[in-house]
Amino acid sequence: MIKVGVLAVQGAFVEHEYILNKLGARTIELRQKSDLYKNFDRLVLPGGESTVQGKLLKDLDMFALLKEKIINGMPVLATCAGLILLAEKISNDSRAYFKTLPVILKRNAYGRQLGSFHCDGIVKGIGQFPMEFIRAPYIEDIGSGVEVLAKTNGKITAIEYKNQLGFAFHPELCEDYRIHKMFLNMDLQENS
Ligand code: GLN
Repeated sequence: MIKVGVLAVQGAFVEHEYILNKLGARTIELRQKSDLYKNFDRLVLPGGESTVQGKLLKDLDMFALLKEKIINGMPVLATCAGLILLAEKISNDSRAYFKTLPVILKRNAYGRQLGSFHCDGIVKGIGQFPMEFIRAPYIEDIGSGVEVLAKTNGKITAIEYKNQLGFAFHPELCEDYRIHKMFLNMDLQENS
C-alpha cells in the first residue's frame, strides 16, 4: 500500500488526507519529529500559512530531516503555502525555507482585492482543471529543469521539478482527484 506522509503542523492537511484515502493510499500525519521516522514514501506539504509552517518546522526540529527526504528524491506534492516552502527565493519576502525548488515566487501575489478566486485552467498532462486560489503565490521565474504545468492569466501557477510537484492553487479543495492521482503515480527514487 502507498503510504503518504502529510505535514500536519498547520493548514489544510485534512482535505489532502481525505482524497488520498479515497484513492486507496494510507496517510500518516507528520506533527512532530518522531513522526518523520515512520514508514512513508511520499510527502504532502499543504496550504496554510508558510511563515507559520516554516517556523513550526524549525521549532519542532523537523526541518532538516524533511529537507533531506526531499533532496533524496521523495515525491512531494506541495500546494500554495507548501509551494512557498519549497521555493529557492521569495521575491517579496526575505525568508526562504527548503530551497529545493529553483524558482522565484511572489507570495500573496494577487493582492487584497483578488485575494481569492476560482477559475478553470489547463494543467499539462491532465487537461481542464478547476483552480481555487486563496491568497496564492505565483511563480515569476524558473531555473533550468523546471517544467511549467499551468499558467493562469499569464503567470506560472503549477510546476514539476524532479520529484517535486507544486501548485499555487488548491487541488485538495475540489472534487477532481486527478492531480492527487498524478502524485501517487510518480516514480519512487531508490534512495528516498
Ligand atoms: N498566503 C499564504 C502564505 O503566504 C498561502 C495561502 C495558502 O496556502 N492558501 O503562506
